[in-house]
Parts: sequence; C-alpha cells; structure tokens
Amino acid sequence: MANIVNVDPLKKILKQYSKNLFWVFGSNKIINKIANFQKTNILILMYHRVLPKSEIKNDYAYLTVELERFEKQIKNISQYYLPTSLKDFEKFKSHSSKRPRIIITFDDGYVDNMTYALPILKKYNVPATIYISTSYPDGNGDVWWYEIIDIVNDNQEICIIFDNHQYYFSLKNHQEKIDAGIKIINMFLSMDHIAQSRLLNAIRNSDKSLTKYCKHKYRSYNSLFLNWDEVRILSKEPLITIGAHAHNHYNLSKLDRDVLIKEISHSKCRLEKETGISIEHFAYPFGGDGFVGKREYEIVKQLGFKTSVTTYSYKLKTTTSNFQLPRYAISRFFDERNLERGLHPKFWKN
Ligand SMILES: [Zn+2]
Repeated sequence: MANIVNVDPLKKILKQYSKNLFWVFGSNKIINKIANFQKTNILILMYHRVLPKSEIKNDYAYLTVELERFEKQIKNISQYYLPTSLKDFEKFKSHSSKRPRIIITFDDGYVDNMTYALPILKKYNVPATIYISTSYPDGNGDVWWYEIIDIVNDNQEICIIFDNHQYYFSLKNHQEKIDAGIKIINMFLSMDHIAQSRLLNAIRNSDKSLTKYCKHKYRSYNSLFLNWDEVRILSKEPLITIGAHAHNHYNLSKLDRDVLIKEISHSKCRLEKETGISIEHFAYPFGGDGFVGKREYEIVKQLGFKTSVTTYSYKLKTTTSNFQLPRYAISRFFDERNLERGLHPKFWKN
C-alpha cells in the first residue's frame, strides 16, 4: 500500500493565512485549533476470520488471520490504543485523544469469531462488532468464493459452458490454480447475483464427477458460519455488538431498488427477531468500488441504522458521513508490529 500522507486542504489554506491572522488573534495556536477541527483519531479495523495456523487452508481470498498473531494484535491494541465499541462511535467521533481509538469489526459471521476470536477479545477486554449476513445462520447462503477456491484446488482441469461461451482452465500446478481462481472470482464479482447463481450451477454441472463433488462439499460450507443459537449467545456478550451485513452476500449496487431495500431491511428484522435487540449498525457486502454508492448510503440511513462501514481505507474525519465509514482491512499479511508504531497516517491512502 502506498504511503501517502493526508494533506487537509482547509488546514493548508488556513496555514497560508495564519501569519496575517496572527495579528488579529495574537496567536496562531487558535488557527491550528480551527484547522484541526476535522481531525479524528479513530481507526476502524476489518477482520473476517481467526483460525489456528493448522486449520488455515487455501486462504486465497486473504480472509483469515492466524490465532497467535491475532492475539498479538489485540494485545498491542489494548496496550497502545483505546479499544472502543462501535456503540460509542458517535460519542468519540469529534473527540481528540492522545491515544488513537480502535474499533474492531468482523464481517460475514464466521463461527471462528466465537470459538477463537472471542476468548482473546475477552482476555484483553477489547470490544468488537460482528456483521452477519443472515442467510448463513438461516442455512441457505451462497459462499461461492470458498466453493470456487475448493473446486480449483481439488481438480486438474475444468471446462465451463456459460452463456454460449466455453471457458477451459488447466489446473495442473499451483500457479495455474491461482490464475484460474482469480479469473473465475473476478467473473463472479462483475456479475449480479442471478448471473452468479447461473455461473455457479454451470461450474457445478461442468462434469459428472464435479456435480457429485459439489453436492458433497456444499453441505460443509454452512458449518463455517455462526448458527442462530451462537448469534444469540454472542448478542448477550457485553463486548460484542451484532450488526447486519445484508441477508444474502450480494453486490448491492447491482440490485433493483426494491430488492436492495428488502435485502438490507430483512437482515435487520431477522437479527432483531432472533436476538431481541435493536440492530443499529450495517456493513456493505464487498463494500468498495463497484459495490456501494450514494443510493446504498441513503437507503441504509433511511432504514434506521446509526452507522455503516465500507471497505474504503481513506482517513476518517469528523465530517465523514456515518453511512460511509472507512475501514482498514487486516489480512494474514498484516504485520502487528505496525500497531506499535501507530497506524496514523501512513497506512491511509489519502
Ligand atoms: Zn462480507
């Protein structure tokens, strides 16, 4: 990631005039105070999964952090930062403290959030928000990204017939598997959920052995996610805030407006019904360029949420909308020593 230091344009202009204004105000400390009014030192971190090293397989989507390293990160966060609950975001958004605040979030609702991450969070008393796509605890959500990775890894070749085109991939070595995996995942990301479903069926049905294999494998993906009993247990944990992540994990920007509203509102209602608590925080599935925009920000606001988070990693300001909050993604490549050095401001894109 490029290390680009943020230059606040208002601060630049005010500093240019600070010499003249010095004679009016008597001190440029006041000018700096005004110029810094947009500053906030809250960082929101995005995690997906936490697993022991021995259980991490084919993490090509960079979703998993090793358990031992997660503990180091949480320990550093508790030591060098003020771990903060998303529930208190509004209270601290305009506050400036010497130690930056860090808000931890997890997307999708993987079961390891409870089995592996929660004990570490409790050990260091660090709060976190878990955003759940409700089709997963309902037991009928598509997890095409894991299915594609498994198919590519477990086969020597694949020939997909889709929309009158034939796509052949040789999968004989590691590099071929990575290249094919990236190409197929990019095909999925460019499609709406209806086309994705057709493509997934085309892949599953591309030959008889693959169809049998997919029927067997498909059942196992549900076990990756929290079930409703587990969501209810988490919702009662004082350190955990439950948020919504839409019902299905669709690209929201490709949905018609009425379907989009249903996708978001259904996840809120479903979570509220199962947990008995008010769901006030939302995370956009995929959450970045090509997946979310003005229409989605407005609808989430209208549906009564207090905040929603993206996957954009620009720097948070007091003027940033609560419905397009940036986050810094943590993958297994993240070096936890960075947390000792402080993440501000070199980790932010602009
Ligand atoms: Zn997600």
